[in-house]
Amino acid sequence: MTIVTAILHVDLDNIRARYECFVCHGKEGPVFGAEDVKAFTAVIRNDHRARCIAQQGGHR
Ligand SMILES: [Zn+2]
Repeated sequence: MTIVTAILHVDLDNIRARYECFVCHGKEGPVFGAEDVKAFTAVIRNDHRARCIAQQGGHR
């Protein structure tokens, strides 16, 4: 069973990315440019999880 709690949008045509969390309704980004998009997509899930207000206390 998979619960989708967030979506990572990556637009390869315009080279931009953004992250949208359904749990806290927070949004990250967008970021632009190949380097920024690459870095963003690599870490944003963990980065957001660390500061997602809705998930505080869930794992510690
Ligand atoms: Zn969140």
